[in-house]
Amino acid sequence: MILERLTVGPFQENCYILGDEDSGLGAVIDPGDEAARIALAVEQTGLEVASIIVTHAHIDHVGAVAALVDEYACPVLMHAEAETMLAQLPTQAVMMGLRFGRVPAVDRHVEDEEVLEVGNLRLRSLYTPGHAPGHLAFYVEGEGVVLSGDALFAGSVGRVDLGGGSMEVLMKSIEERLLTLPDDTIVYPGHGPATTIGDERASNPFLGGGGLL
Ligand SMILES: [Zn+2]
Ligand SMILES: [Zn+2]
Repeated sequence: MILERLTVGPFQENCYILGDEDSGLGAVIDPGDEAARIALAVEQTGLEVASIIVTHAHIDHVGAVAALVDEYACPVLMHAEAETMLAQLPTQAVMMGLRFGRVPAVDRHVEDEEVLEVGNLRLRSLYTPGHAPGHLAFYVEGEGVVLSGDALFAGSVGRVDLGGGSMEVLMKSIEERLLTLPDDTIVYPGHGPATTIGDERASNPFLGGGGLL
């Protein structure tokens, strides 16, 4: 498995390039900004991008989607419940002093427990709302890896004060869909360093594991 992380844009968001050597096919997950830099990194992997996968429609996760669709002419995958937020991004960007540009079209709506094939890799979608509507995490079957989006971070959890957020819903998502994964599963979050499910279960202060809160 090829898995590369690029931290992009003013929000220091983690974009991931995922693929497998055998088929040469890959996916870009959450291209939030710096499309040219992402495209260069893709080129260096030698992968052919077959899809762009979005965990949720916050501006820092989708800012480079339209530019990369122009580059790869590949489908964009996202949960249907994230569409409203996606459509509001140009207006929201102006309020933040940013420019969003063209809203990308989503080609396929992904539901809970779907298996997305990226070459020989199998990404199982985990519906994990609470941080944002229609938030999805992706468990890479057989690789011991989960892309957790902004639901779970090393030592923290996603904020819930943006539109459609709920701490109660987020905690349920984390407990039922992420902490149920094997302890040695490596978590690659939307911001900050990687961690493991076991480490977060043991020490994440938001998860009642004996931390500070
Ligand atoms: Zn977010
Ligand atoms: Zn984010």
